[in-house]
Amino acid sequence: MSGQCSDVRDPGLTNALTSQRASAASEDQRLSALLEIAKILALQHDLEDVVARFLCCLIATLEAADTGLFFLYDQASDRLTVCGAHGYDPDVLRDVRVAPGEAMSGRTLQAGQAALYSSAEEIVAMQADLSATNHELLRQAAAGLKEPHSAVCVPLVASHAKVGVLVLESRSGRARFTRADLPFLEDVAYLIALAIENARLRDRRPTTRALEEADRLKAELISTLAHEMRTPLTSIKGFSTALLMEEATFDPETQREFLQAIDEECDVLTGLIHDFLESSIIDAGLLRLELEPVRVPRLARIVVNEVAHQTAKHRIVVDFPEAFPIVEADPGRIAQVLRNLLDNAVKYSPQGGIIVVRGQVQGAHVEVSVADQGVGIAPEHLNRLFEKFFRVESGPGRHVVGSGLGLPIALTIVEGHGGRIWAESKLGEGSIFTFTLPLERGAERGHG
Ligand code: ADP
Repeated sequence: MSGQCSDVRDPGLTNALTSQRASAASEDQRLSALLEIAKILALQHDLEDVVARFLCCLIATLEAADTGLFFLYDQASDRLTVCGAHGYDPDVLRDVRVAPGEAMSGRTLQAGQAALYSSAEEIVAMQADLSATNHELLRQAAAGLKEPHSAVCVPLVASHAKVGVLVLESRSGRARFTRADLPFLEDVAYLIALAIENARLRDRRPTTRALEEADRLKAELISTLAHEMRTPLTSIKGFSTALLMEEATFDPETQREFLQAIDEECDVLTGLIHDFLESSIIDAGLLRLELEPVRVPRLARIVVNEVAHQTAKHRIVVDFPEAFPIVEADPGRIAQVLRNLLDNAVKYSPQGGIIVVRGQVQGAHVEVSVADQGVGIAPEHLNRLFEKFFRVESGPGRHVVGSGLGLPIALTIVEGHGGRIWAESKLGEGSIFTFTLPLERGAERGHG
């Protein structure tokens, strides 16, 4: 996020911008802004540079604009990331990942329509469903700035594709955004979206870029597979060699222990291979959901029984209200999500403890969470958990085998159902993974 034109915390620059804004009639300024944007479009800068220049131009043109954020939509992860900012600390913003539908920017992306927020209260209410991590990152990035009292969010759409969201905020009290600003901003947003599309196409150099990415993922897959398989294979080899040694005899109890260990390590290997296959199926666009009425509490109990057999250290509690609505879902796939979350809850709480699977109805959807008392996840990792192959590499409980694919697979399945999935955690205290499934209108109440 290089190339910021100025910072609103710098009084000299702020004054210069203010007088520049006051000195020209607003229509003239807007026309010049459009010309300036056309110029930026014509000169082929890289994407971050283009974005930084657009932001500068807009902040200088609109009297109400004091700070701004430029979100780009990444289709692969289905998240908005910050590609440029004015007034904020850009380094802190790098880890922000906003889901479609989440807070001001996510809602604007989803609705595809510009929105005006005219009071501080309205902005606070709109930002209330920001994930805890995003909330904290944005708070840190805006340290030292006054709270915004009006804001505009404009979707960036080019050739029907969602490209991102532009957010401008008023903080100084000098002026507020009004409805009259929206048509101008929509025009600008269209130009910006085109510029971004062009820059992306230029950057991508389609075939080579796509091939490189596919090669990278393939290499990552092979190296993860090779690395993660080594531990269970070493155990299997060790125990079976021991059992086959002619010079050594083991009592039946020890023999059973060895065989049990081999059996468990085979399950670990099967799980790894299963994750890789599933991930390849999803990558190939072959995930098909077969929806049918599902009693989630019953499904949860079945999966809990399976997982409970694999651990003696954990107590798994299922807590659903008596009358829980029946949802339209793919039972096999939702069981897979629950299994992934429960397997993780067990794997990443090596000391044991209580795991709670809880369900509740929240407005137009049901919410299912899996909470553990395990090693927890540091705040800086929370936003990356759902990325392919991401694994927390250091810290307690990190020697466990895994593919780094369980959560991305769960994300694809949940989003395929129109739901959301997220994690909350405290390092050393435990984690809660929650996913939602939309309720059909008029869903029946059933008993799980
Ligand atoms: P895997 O467990 O196979 O590595 P996942 O995609 O399921 O892959 O999880 C990604 C990473 O997220 C894990 O490697 C782990 O670092 C972290 N993680 C997932 N669930 C938990 C949990 N319940 N507690 C702590 N860390 C977790």
